[in-house]
Parts: sequence; structure tokens; C-alpha cells
Amino acid sequence: MQPDGSEPLPLSRQIDQLAEQCVKCGLCLPHCPTYQADLTENESPRGRIALLQALANGQLDAGEKLREHIDHCLLCRRCERVCPSGVQYGRLFDLGQQLLEQDRRPGRAARLGLALVTRPRWLRRLGRLIVLTQRSGLTGLARRLGLGRLSPWLRRGLTLPPLPWPRPFQARYPAYGTRQGQVALFTGCISAAADHTTLHDTLEVLRHFGYEVVIPPTQQCCGALHAHSGQQDRANALATQNRDAFTGPFDAVIVTATGCAAQLREMQPGAPVRDAVSFIAAQPWPETLQLHGGEETVAVHEPCSAQNVLRNSDDSYRLLQRIPGLTVIPLADNATCCGAAGSYLLRYPLFADQLRQHKLEAIAQQKPDRVVTTNIGCALHLQSGLIEQHDRRPVLHPLTLLREYIEGTL
Ligand code: SF4
Ligand code: SF4
Repeated sequence: MQPDGSEPLPLSRQIDQLAEQCVKCGLCLPHCPTYQADLTENESPRGRIALLQALANGQLDAGEKLREHIDHCLLCRRCERVCPSGVQYGRLFDLGQQLLEQDRRPGRAARLGLALVTRPRWLRRLGRLIVLTQRSGLTGLARRLGLGRLSPWLRRGLTLPPLPWPRPFQARYPAYGTRQGQVALFTGCISAAADHTTLHDTLEVLRHFGYEVVIPPTQQCCGALHAHSGQQDRANALATQNRDAFTGPFDAVIVTATGCAAQLREMQPGAPVRDAVSFIAAQPWPETLQLHGGEETVAVHEPCSAQNVLRNSDDSYRLLQRIPGLTVIPLADNATCCGAAGSYLLRYPLFADQLRQHKLEAIAQQKPDRVVTTNIGCALHLQSGLIEQHDRRPVLHPLTLLREYIEGTL
């Protein structure tokens, strides 16, 4: 049932309607990373749209080759950003995956991953296990023994940056100084297990800006991974659970990862979902809030979800330029995906690393002291690459950086 009470069109009809908007001009092709790598039509946005339309109309079967061309897509949505006809590629892709999933079951690894992200207790345990193995030296030993060659999952796990111990959250945190309002913080799945630093720093910054921060306990994963792998029913169920969890007198639902913010916003149009950096950048600066100056250069990596969906990349620059003495530069070739792309870095590790290599070369050339980015997936992917190259530069969230300057810990 649609929000207006009408029955939705059949899946194949929806795909056909969206694909009809493509006028086959090809202007998106030079912007597509998979087309740039392969230079074949089926690895381009226009080619994928045509494949999905032919599948929906029964002109093509869902063979292995077709599935591969669709699965190779990073879902960076650069094509959507540059398309003059306004083709909703992201929506079309999710519907296409739904159609393909009707007669295939996700593989065991995919099923495990999708189950894991909706089980916060399992994720917390996994987060603690990773921290313990990192601190005991086992991770380093396994890396030196080359055990990462056994599977891409293991290799990713062994090159993770040192993770913070997952700290429990209080139900609410009072504002510092004059209270401006109340916000809810979305803690996410991977962020809650592996990015406690960003979550705690964000809530501290919000408190400094006069906001009481509430952590709704029944919130769930944003459902992006489910939607992009054809599990739309599960994604809808998670959206409903989040809608209930975030019902309250909140001025905003604050999200620290732009990938999750994009999904939550698209699943709940009209809900006050705000990217954390954009929310803070739009606030009047509190009179009592002083920043300490610093001499360093920070490069901004702009996630695809920020550039092509939320379209809020400028907010990171606007906010960080408030820090006296800080030089803020864009990472070269920001328009191209870093290769993290949700579960892509596990499914296609070679291409994910190839894309990341361009970013690592840009970092080596531009020589920033630190790199900031607003998406946890990109941050972990880039940081792992730097670790593999024995480069100790940190990759962190802009609000972690801002908090350091507020607190004067540099
Ligand atoms: S998706 Fe847009 S830019 Fe790409 S070929 Fe179709 S109409 Fe042109
Ligand atoms: S989403 Fe990205 S990878 Fe996929 S077709 Fe569009 S530009 Fe290419």
C-alpha cells in the first residue's frame, strides 16, 4: 500500500516507467567508475538501465552475466547527479535488485552480514572481540603471517584501524549552558560497533551547542544494505521500527554517517533527519564557545552519499573553516568513489582497492596532516589503506576534529 492508500504498480511496471526517463544521451558515462574501468556499455549507467528495463519487460532473462553487470555497480549515484533528464538511478537500482532477488537467494556471507547489522548485541560483541584481538597483538600476528589471503572478509578485518572499546550510551545527555532544544542521535549498526568515537564526539558537540541528546533504545539499522540487495520488505520493516523509535518532540534526528542519513531520509520523507555536520554548521555559534587555534592541514574526503544524495559536502568545509589556523583542502578527485560503497569492498575487493589507490596517492601527494570524512564506511576503507602503506595519518569525522579544538586537547 502506498502512503496515499493506493496500490503500488507491479515491480516490472515501476522499473519500466523509471527507465523510460533515460533518453540514452550518454552524458553520465564519463562519470561512472565502472564504465571508466571497463569501457563497455553494460558496465555503464545507460547500459544497466537498459538491462533492467529489458529484464522487467521480459526481453532478457536474469542470467549470471546480467546479474554481474548490475552487481558491479557501486551505487555511488554519480550518474544520477549529472543526469540532465533526472533519471532516478538509485531507485531504479533498488527495484532491479528486488526483481532479481525474486528468484535467487542471497549467498551465505550476504545473509550473515544482513542478519548481523540488525542485531546490535551481536555487533557490540563483535566490536569487543575485534578490539580484544587488536590489543592482544593477535591481529598484527595474523597480518604478518599473511592470513588475510584466506578471504576478503578476513583481510578487511586484519587491516581495520585500532577500534575504540564500545562504550554504553546513557538514555539522555543534558545540554551544556542555555538549552536550545532536544535532538535524537541515530547510532547505526557499524557505527555503534566500530565508531563510538564519532558518536560520543558528536553528542558532546551537540551539547556544547545547547542541545539535549536522547538515544532512543529501540532504534535499528537504517536498512540501506537490505534495500540495495533487494530485501525491500526487510528495509521497510526497519524503517517502520525507526519511525516508531524516533517519534518524539525532537528538533532533529542526527545521523553521523551520510550513507545512513541518505537512506533514512529517502525512506522517511518529511522526517527531520539531519546529517550531524550540516546540523551543526547551520546553528548560530554559541557566544561562550571558544575554539583553540591550530596549525595543520586537513583534507576533506567527500563521500558519494554526501555529494550525490544529500548534496551537503560544502557543510564540512564551512564548519571546519571556523577553526583558527586550520587549512582545509578538498582531497583531489573527490568526485570519484573511494570503493567502500557499503558491502562492495567485501564483494569486489580488487576493484574497491583499485579505486582506493587513487585516494591514497592523492593523500601522499597533498600531504595533509589528517583526513576527514562524514561516512564511516569510507573512513574505515581509507584508514585501512593507509595502514597497509604504513602511513600513520588518521582519518576521522569532522565533528571529532571540531571537538578536539573545543576541548583544547591538541
Ligand atoms: S541516465 Fe541520464 S545521463 Fe545517463 S544516458 Fe540516461 S538520460 Fe543520459
Ligand atoms: S551508481 Fe555509480 S557505478 Fe553505478 S552506474 Fe551510476 S555512476 Fe556507475
